[in-house]
This record gives sequence, structure tokens and C-alpha cells, in this order.
Amino acid sequence: MTATAAPAVWLATRDLRLHDNPALGAAMAAGGGVVVPLFVVDPAIPKPANRAAFLAGSLAGLDASLRERGAALVVREGDPAVEALRVAADAGARTICIASDVTALARARVERLERACVGAGVRLVVTEGATVLPPGALAPDTAPSELAAGASPRECYQVFTPYWRRWAATSPRPVVPTPERLALPGGVATGRLPTAADLAPEGSPAPLLPPGGEAAAVERARLWLAGPVAGYDTTRDDLSLDATSRLSPYLHLGCLSAVALAGRLAGRPECEPYLRQLCWRDFYAQLLAARPEIAREDFRPQRAHWLDDAQGLEAWQAGLTGYPVVDAAMRQLLAEGFVHNRARMVVASFLTKHLGIDWREGARHYSEHLVDGDVAANSGNWQWVAGTGADTKPHRVFNPTLQGQRYDRSGGYVRRWVPELAGVAGAAVHEPWKLPFAVRAGLDYPLPIVDHDDAVARYRIRTAAAAK
Ligand code: FAD
Repeated sequence: MTATAAPAVWLATRDLRLHDNPALGAAMAAGGGVVVPLFVVDPAIPKPANRAAFLAGSLAGLDASLRERGAALVVREGDPAVEALRVAADAGARTICIASDVTALARARVERLERACVGAGVRLVVTEGATVLPPGALAPDTAPSELAAGASPRECYQVFTPYWRRWAATSPRPVVPTPERLALPGGVATGRLPTAADLAPEGSPAPLLPPGGEAAAVERARLWLAGPVAGYDTTRDDLSLDATSRLSPYLHLGCLSAVALAGRLAGRPECEPYLRQLCWRDFYAQLLAARPEIAREDFRPQRAHWLDDAQGLEAWQAGLTGYPVVDAAMRQLLAEGFVHNRARMVVASFLTKHLGIDWREGARHYSEHLVDGDVAANSGNWQWVAGTGADTKPHRVFNPTLQGQRYDRSGGYVRRWVPELAGVAGAAVHEPWKLPFAVRAGLDYPLPIVDHDDAVARYRIRTAAAAK
């Protein structure tokens, strides 16, 4: 540690880890190892109960790791721009380091911070953020003839496959070393770590949430990379096997570095299908970075076709649509704050295409409950499924019964999450309406709220009308 450098502030946001942390690394370099690790609880950022619980656990883990290395997490509440400058003044810090992020809220935060730093004569360092490649690092080619005709250069990739090709051929930044020791400057009170109840006083977290924090993230990644990742391509869609990494909440809050994770997969061809999923994450981040409004607005508005159906929405949210795989997924969401990706697609398609309900209603409900709820991935995927997004086949409709029969062959996923059907053996669980009347009458489970064929026919009519 260099005693001569002024301390620096690391303003932690969605990078709650010590390993491979560019903003922390920049603060360590600027402050000669004397750093204020600061987290500001920003009342402007919504904190539904599940994410609040995961965040509280992650902050506690970060504080424990910092204490092992000679420092501690400093916690404040308020506008991060104001609080970071206040803490910098208390500590005599001349530099504030923060990771970049793509949401409108995060960008506005950096802009406020920039203005405040200029006013206070403090240097602001904005480092790479939560993705493998920074949004904007890859820009699609614009044909010279288009430029000559006055077109602007294309701001981002709108189709996944060409993005993936370039992404897979591009090296990310080097991994940043984990600091062994940090020192807190004098004059800074650490503050109190928030509990889940402090962060979300009105909500109650789902009963089966994963533990937050870097230690849990690193351990889960270690187990995943040691074996299951190699079989990902064949097992990932099997709903009852549940054989995906479940690293999404850790990646979302930055308890795990996406760059470090991708680095561990490089040179392992059997891991390419998994790497591709990390690329989808970057793809949606670069889309949101270029078009912040798509968190709420249709990316391709001409495809919109929404209906008001309060009863349908309620049945979908409660997992009472009468389609077992849809209901299983919606109940998994309420119990675990998590849903398998295949099931997320099926229920999103059911809401937007069978029921014709606006994707924003679905995205809002997901965001309220998902522990990995992420603006870029959530709005990007919802729009992809709804047909308003970056999808080259916007009119595909998932048949919930066929999806169940194909991806939950044994019916184990449905039986696990829909206890009313727990006694129905085998794949018959996907079509309870076909069970003998005497059996069906004994099940406290609804008939389908819409007929599949009718719903698809109505969807086709609506989209044809919207296209005119
Ligand atoms: P794995 O299959 O193990 O994949 C590894 C990682 O790749 C994930 O952790 C995730 O970070 C990333 N990833 C995988 N698939 C996608 C994808 N389609 N888009 C973006 N990143 C992906 N993911 C979120 O992290 N937050 C969300 O809010 C979110 N909302 C979604 C909404 C809908 C309607 C749909 C269809 C998908 C959504 N996803 C979201 C993407 C995906 O479902 C989850 O990332 C995945 O299920 C998380 O489980 P896992 O970690 O086991 O994934």
C-alpha cells in the first residue's frame, strides 16, 4: 500500500464481489490500497422482497470478505451521487470508481455523479460493468452505400446470431486480481448493513430463495464448471432435471464475474452452448444500452396486439390456467423466485399470445418475483417471446401441452409444483382434461381457461389485423 496516495472510493453497485472487479481494482490503484468500499441503498431503485433478501445476503457476504482483508463495507442511504461525494469528503478521497451499467436509472446515476465530481474536484473513473464484453464494443457493419445515402452507423446488433459470431471471436478484458489486503481510511463511519426487511419492509421473501453473496456464487460456479456444464446442451431444456447453472442471480448482482466465468469456459468446445447463453445476456445488455426505452416500449411497435383480460392475468399469475406446465412455472416463480428458462418462454408465450395480454404485465410480475430480475434480460426476453422484440420469428407460438410433453416427459416438473396433480402418473399429467371423468372430478384443478387451437387462431387474426 502506498501511503502517499489519497484514498479512493469504490462505489459498489451491481458488482458485489472482490474477485475480478474492475471498479475495485481502479480504486485500489488510485488509493494505493486505501479504499472506501461504499454501498448506497438508493430508495429510487425498486427492491421487491426476493431481490431485497438476496441483496441483503450479498452485502453481508461482501462485508465479511472485506473484514477478512482488513476493511469493511461502508453503507449509506440516499442518492448515491450525493452520498459518494459526502463519503469522499469525509475520507479525503480524490477519486471515485464505479462500474458502468445499462439501465436508465444507472446511467442517470453516473451523470449525476459526473456533475457532482466536477463540482467537487474529484476524479470519477467509470469502468467496465457486468457483461463479458462491454455494450457497444461490437457494432454491426453499416454498408458504405448506406452511409453514402445518409444512413447513420448502426448503434447495436438487433439479431443474435451475427452478434454471437463476433462475440465468440473477441477477447474480453483481462481478469483483475483479487486484492489480498485493503485499508479503510480514518474518519468514515461504516454504517449499518441493511436486512431484507429494511430493504423491503412490506414484502415477504419466497420460501426457497438461494443464498446471496460471492462465496455462494463462487462455490456454485465451481460445482457447475467441474461437471454439469459439459452436459448442458443435452440437459438444459429438461424441466424436471433442472440441470441449468442457476447462476443468474449471482451474475445479475455481480457476485460472480461474467468475464471470469467466460474465461473458465474458453477452449472447452463442450462448453460452447453454455457460453452462448452468456452471450445472450450481453446481447440484451447492448440492446438496452442503445435503446434504453425498450425497458418499457415495444422494440418493434408494429407487432403490438394487446387485449384487456384481468381474469386471465390473475389466473396466469396464480398458476391456475388449467395448462399444467404453465401453472407449474408460475408456482415455481412464487416459491423460488426462479423459473427454468424453457418454462419462462412457455408462460410468456401463453400470456402474450394465448391470452393476448401486453408483455409489460408479464415483465412486471416477473420483475416483482424473480430473484435474477434484470431490466435488460427481462424486457429483452419478454419482447422476444411477445413478438415485439429482436426475434426473426415473431409469430411463433409455444403449444403448452406439447412443450410439457417434450420437455417434462416424466411429468415430474408438473407434479412437483402443482400438488393437485401429484397423483397423476406419467405424461398424462400434461392433459388432465383427458383423464376419465371420475378421476378428473376428484382433482381440484381447473379446466383450461382458453382452448389452445381457438387461442392461436385468434392470435393469428389479431396479428394479421395489426399488420394492415
Ligand atoms: P443457464 O441456462 O445456466 O444460463 C447461464 C446464464 O446465461 C444465465 O445465468 C443467464 O445469465 C444467461 N442467460 C441464459 N439464457 C439467457 C437469456 N435468454 N437471456 C439473457 N441471458 C440468458 N434472465 C435473467 O437473468 N433475468 C431476467 O429477468 C430474465 N427474464 C427472463 C424473462 C423471460 C420471459 C425469459 C424467456 C427469459 C428471461 N431470462 C432472464 C433469461 C433466462 O431465462 C435466465 O437467465 C435463466 O433461466 C437463468 O437460469 P440459469 O442461471 O440456470 O441459466
